[in-house]
Amino acid sequence: MNLLMLGPPGAGKGTQAEHFAKARGIPRVSTGEILREAVHSRTEIGRRAKAIMDRGELVGDDVMIGIVRERLEREDTRNGFVLDGFPRTVAQASALDTIMRGRDPLIVIDIVVPEAELVRRLGTRLICDDCGMNAPIAGGAAACAKCGGKLVQRADDNQAVVIERLKVYHRQSEPLVEYYRVRPTFRSIDGAQPPDRVAEDLAAAIEAANHQAVRHGAPR
Ligand code: ADP
Repeated sequence: MNLLMLGPPGAGKGTQAEHFAKARGIPRVSTGEILREAVHSRTEIGRRAKAIMDRGELVGDDVMIGIVRERLEREDTRNGFVLDGFPRTVAQASALDTIMRGRDPLIVIDIVVPEAELVRRLGTRLICDDCGMNAPIAGGAAACAKCGGKLVQRADDNQAVVIERLKVYHRQSEPLVEYYRVRPTFRSIDGAQPPDRVAEDLAAAIEAANHQAVRHGAPR
């Protein structure tokens, strides 16, 4: 099961990807998380990416494609993976198609959420300063449920940067919906529902898309 999650920032890709990957016992590959880890541990890529991320812009295609190519070569992705945050440009999508040659087809799920709801979610979301986990919006918790760390607003979730990230999404990432829509393994789901309802719709959409993939003679 090679799953790709599309959707604007705040659509819930990360939450759903994490949940699904855990349930299936396959790795979740989140480029946002890989970059935040690189920033945290002050690697060369992390230092360069930080300024770009803080402005709400995209890290260069070559860097991102390199990161994902290397990650998908690792043995633990052989039985499947959930990709979240990549591709974000058509150039990245086309590189991903090359990386995927000879592997099972991508199941592509687009999570659709109205703009006003995205702005609301991103403005109120908290993450753990230590482990990076998203805290439930309605939770009102003071500390991270996973590691007890301090909950903080993500550096790129302040209002000015959120507006920029949504603009960048419309300009650079939304064209991906058209790129993938023609494939029999593409589905959209309604992300403006409680997380467990979204998870149910996601599971059903994946089931249907996977069925199509098999019918189209994909190598299983
Ligand atoms: P979001 O909540 O916007 O979905 P992510 O956690 O996926 O955020 O990504 C955070 C930031 O990391 C992005 O705004 C961008 O600067 C950078 N980033 C993540 N993935 C990519 C990518 N595939 N290409 C370019 N930049 C990326």
